[in-house]
Amino acid sequence: MITGGCRCGAVRYTIALERMPRSYACHCTLCQRASGSSFAHQMPVPEAALSVTGELLTAGVTSVSGAVSTGYHCAACVGRLYSTNSRWPGMAIVRAGTVDGSERLTPALHIFISTKQPWIALPRDVPAFEESAPPAELATILELAPPA
Ligand SMILES: [Zn+2]
Ligand SMILES: [Zn+2]
Repeated sequence: MITGGCRCGAVRYTIALERMPRSYACHCTLCQRASGSSFAHQMPVPEAALSVTGELLTAGVTSVSGAVSTGYHCAACVGRLYSTNSRWPGMAIVRAGTVDGSERLTPALHIFISTKQPWIALPRDVPAFEESAPPAELATILELAPPA
């Protein structure tokens, strides 16, 4: 069982999976804006495996491609815990930094490195894509069922 929560502790979650899922880093400018940081570290998990306690706020944004991303935030501290995406039904994309023991998560993949911050040096042995990864390839690297 994997556990995690927001910074204030009002929202906690469990993820009913046997082992830690793989994670990826997105270096796109939208993730930089949304996180207020240099990249987003994301851990996609099946939405059905995620159970949350505590009050959530949701905020939806539509990307230029038409995909709708819905963020789930703690109602008290407004920290984002995860998001869902209309292009990836059934998956919850958990913010890796909210996972208890997140030091065990090393990104297995880097995407949108064309806009990564210049000071970030990527490891040579980790797959990296200039923009988005083809969905099937992303699923393979992350050991997930391919998107429908
Ligand atoms: Zn909170
Ligand atoms: Zn991004």
